[in-house]
Amino acid sequence: MLDKVVIANRGEIALRILRACKELGIKTVAVYSKADRDLLHVRLADQAVCIGPAPSKASYLNIPALISAAEVTDSQAIHPGYGFLAENADFAECVEKSGFIFIGPRAETIRMMGNKVSAIVAMKAAGVPTVPGSDGAVSEENAEAMAEKIGLPVIIKAASGGGGRGMRVVHKMSDVKSALAVTRSEAGAAFGDDTVYMEKFLVHPRHVEIQVIGDGEGKAIHLYDRDCSLQRRHQKVVEEAPAPHIPMKLREDVYAACIKACEQMKYRGAGTFEFLYENERFYFIEMNTRVQVEHPVTEMVTGVDIIKEQLRVAAGLGLSVTQDQISLHGHAVESRINAEDPKTFMPCPGKVNYYHAPGGPGIRMDSHLYSGYSVPPHYDSLIGKLIAFGESREIALKRLQNALDEIVIDGIRSNITLHRDIILQDPGFLAGGVDIHHLENKLGLT
Ligand code: ADP
Repeated sequence: MLDKVVIANRGEIALRILRACKELGIKTVAVYSKADRDLLHVRLADQAVCIGPAPSKASYLNIPALISAAEVTDSQAIHPGYGFLAENADFAECVEKSGFIFIGPRAETIRMMGNKVSAIVAMKAAGVPTVPGSDGAVSEENAEAMAEKIGLPVIIKAASGGGGRGMRVVHKMSDVKSALAVTRSEAGAAFGDDTVYMEKFLVHPRHVEIQVIGDGEGKAIHLYDRDCSLQRRHQKVVEEAPAPHIPMKLREDVYAACIKACEQMKYRGAGTFEFLYENERFYFIEMNTRVQVEHPVTEMVTGVDIIKEQLRVAAGLGLSVTQDQISLHGHAVESRINAEDPKTFMPCPGKVNYYHAPGGPGIRMDSHLYSGYSVPPHYDSLIGKLIAFGESREIALKRLQNALDEIVIDGIRSNITLHRDIILQDPGFLAGGVDIHHLENKLGLT
């Protein structure tokens, strides 16, 4: 097993990684910005290194500072968590060139998946179903012909886009050329790459994703699926596993295609294939080459600890389980708890005077909060994830409701009331299988 790991992240995921390392007897190094001295995992780590001032650019995105932290602490590996540098191929390369293990896929895999055009080409080759589209770059010259061929409405997307940015939906043929030009110039400015491509715009899809883990040698397993359709501005708000009301045969076909793709690229570590699902068909949209925020729901229904598997694979020990040892049991639902106003969604950082975590059977709270902790204004507003497991979806939802009644976060505003009073009272969500526009429609945001 690894000896010592640098946790190149903050907040709940840093604490989650620290806990997994401690279970495996791995020593931990927390790195933190000046605004994050009081983070829970910084206090619990074996060593802690300040890597710079509050702004992410100067700290959590500061590659030389992270490499130095690994050097001065004599660490063996770096876990990037999610966000920040987790999907930065240059960082992965730099970590390995400096003599450390990057806990994630090879840099070349991250690079290929970071470009959505090359990702789609690789997926098609492995037999993964994709959205009908241009399958390559589109120019002003062939844009209208391509839209004609695909059929309106279409979505024009930046090949290097991410975080829900760099996309434009087009409903009229007369708008195609100008929409392409605008998306191209925005993409160039935002991502330093003005390549754009075109896809059929699906009108009422669900977001369903498949969790995989590869050993980097050509073996891979899937951990079934998650439904993350409840979103606001392309940000997931509630996730569940498994995805409700999808025939098992369709799911098994898509698992098999994902495994084949992982085998072909000798995928290393944890990853997620994201699909849109509409009219009983799956359409690949992108692959995330890191652990996801919503990984706990999968852990609850499969019993596999995804972070520990990442650490094992990085140590060269391979996967601890084979596909036939994994089965689905029960149902799990996760509410993302954000420090934000529940109505305006404006971030609300500040001091938590009192924090009380919920409990009881099937409840898991992944959070770095404690009474007296101050949420800094510089980063993402996620302050915790409340996960409820049950033998059935109904029980999981009841337990989630109970836990949302119990939790106390006093001093700052949070979106607990959004979860408790709106989402968990919504007949569509309770029935299961709503599309990606459901929450925004419900909130009157469209
Ligand atoms: P990003 O990397 O920015 O997250 P994605 O390609 O994953 O971009 O797309 C983000 C979101 O945009 C999807 O979850 C979905 O809501 C919407 N979207 C993307 N492609 C399509 C499509 N072909 N049809 C309908 N909606 C789409």
